[in-house]
Amino acid sequence: MPTATIRFTEREDLSPICPFCEKYLDEMYVKRRGLTDATETSAVFFCPFCLKILGFAPPAKAAVG
Ligand SMILES: [Zn+2]
Repeated sequence: MPTATIRFTEREDLSPICPFCEKYLDEMYVKRRGLTDATETSAVFFCPFCLKILGFAPPAKAAVG
């Protein structure tokens, strides 16, 4: 039975791969401007090759509690 925990291992020798164009990413583009509050997002990360969105960063000010 799988445990509820997961390990995080730092691997600076590996590069992530874009799930869309499958290129190795040695950099990601980030866009912070022009994002509306409705998305509750402060930044969007996207692939420099195919420009598809890879992830979002939550607002820095969103301190919960
Ligand atoms: Zn891509």
